[in-house]
Amino acid sequence: MAYIDEIIGRIAEEYPEQKEYQRVVREFLTSIRPVVEKEEERYRADAILERMMFPDREHAFRVTWIDDAGNTRVNHGYRVQFNNALGPYKGGIRFEEDVNADKMKALGFQMVWKNALAGLPAGGAKGGADFSWKGKSDREVMRFSQAYAKELFRYLGADEDILTSDIGAGIREMGYLTGQIRKLTNICDGRVVGKGSAFGGTHLRDEAIGYGIPYYAEAALKMAGESVEGKTVTLSGAGMVAIHAAQKAEELGMKVLTASDSDGWVYDPEGIEPDLLRQVKLEEKARMSEYARRRPGSEYHDGPEGIWEVKCDIALPCAVSHEIGLDQARFLAENGTFAVCPGSNEPATPEAVEYLKAHGVRLYPYQACNAGGVVVTSLEFSQDAMHLRWSEKEVEYQLRYHMYEICRLVEDTVQECGLKNDYIAGADIAAFRRVYDAMCAQGIV
Ligand code: NDP
Repeated sequence: MAYIDEIIGRIAEEYPEQKEYQRVVREFLTSIRPVVEKEEERYRADAILERMMFPDREHAFRVTWIDDAGNTRVNHGYRVQFNNALGPYKGGIRFEEDVNADKMKALGFQMVWKNALAGLPAGGAKGGADFSWKGKSDREVMRFSQAYAKELFRYLGADEDILTSDIGAGIREMGYLTGQIRKLTNICDGRVVGKGSAFGGTHLRDEAIGYGIPYYAEAALKMAGESVEGKTVTLSGAGMVAIHAAQKAEELGMKVLTASDSDGWVYDPEGIEPDLLRQVKLEEKARMSEYARRRPGSEYHDGPEGIWEVKCDIALPCAVSHEIGLDQARFLAENGTFAVCPGSNEPATPEAVEYLKAHGVRLYPYQACNAGGVVVTSLEFSQDAMHLRWSEKEVEYQLRYHMYEICRLVEDTVQECGLKNDYIAGADIAAFRRVYDAMCAQGIV
């Protein structure tokens, strides 16, 4: 049996209930199969896949805290330290009701490759708890965050394991985690990133993911002998990622024709006005219909469907996973869309991915296009280590440079491995090689 199939089978057998972990490992291994099969015996002899696919360490712990009514509450906390061959473990903290060991492991696994692809000296990890801030007071969120930090602080360190923000753990929670860890250790360093700017947080924390997407498009088109200047863009979503992607796309000379929320979408032939989008969606928390009401010449369409029927040069899906199904992929291909640069994780269904690849639409990897977040958290960590704070201009320069480098790495790998237009495999193989080289150089440990 092929080495890869052996590992897929072993994981399914040993962790039958961890379906998400099984899925992400299977997808990744399928993507890197051509590389592994070339030197299968050498990889097998060094048990390289076992050492990569099983996490280094999994912490699971009880988080006990007291709510405002004086009741003792108990949640389940996790931290999966997956691989630190490239640098300290680094990855988000997710506070959400459906967090469990399976999700943490799957997300930790994906962080290894995302950080490796970003080219920064960081390993991969993920953590969190089955706790949601929804319906909790600020004091309850603080006490919960402190209790979580108390369980985890001994395993963290700027050179050991770095916590970043994720769903349910934003600037407020990162602040509480920072405070508690500082109190327990008396150390102020970059072991928590995504912090407030008054105590080590970086510029562009909120903007980085969105800004990085048009920067990736700019690099990719340049490498294809094209320019983003004057290109038309369809964009979905109207959250943090989409708003900043729209803003940067416009600044780079693209024309963003659409934006959406879960109720409907807007077509704006003059180009989405980023300030109005921000005002309506972020400041006023209103609906896209309100944007259309205030923007003469724009059209509002009920329901999220239809956005990908609009003819465009570049598509930027920035709303939710699997927003591009087979039907949407058909519209994109028929309309001659040149590239899809996703902000959303797993934006296309597996059938849509295959369709786009087969019909010559360049579907760039989401883990590369939305890597602006991991780039800027690493920049925060670097600033903390130097006890410096870079200007916004410097951080943005670095972000643009790293997005370009990520794109270069993917393109080079696609060319070198003869992957035609399979940029997703290019990203997976490039990340795998980086971790593999580091692990080999460091011996069997
Ligand atoms: P938000 O929740 O802030 O925004 C999502 C936006 O998409 C909202 O405007 C939402 O509308 C809209 N939306 C929801 N469902 C649909 C739908 N079916 N069709 C069209 N629009 C829809 O998320 P973010 O902006 O933070 O993230 C966007 C994507 O980027 C997500 O897929 C996320 O996983 C991914 N991502 C986010 C990262 C982050 O740190 N923020 C990191 C990496 C990836 P409504 O206002 O009605 O809710």
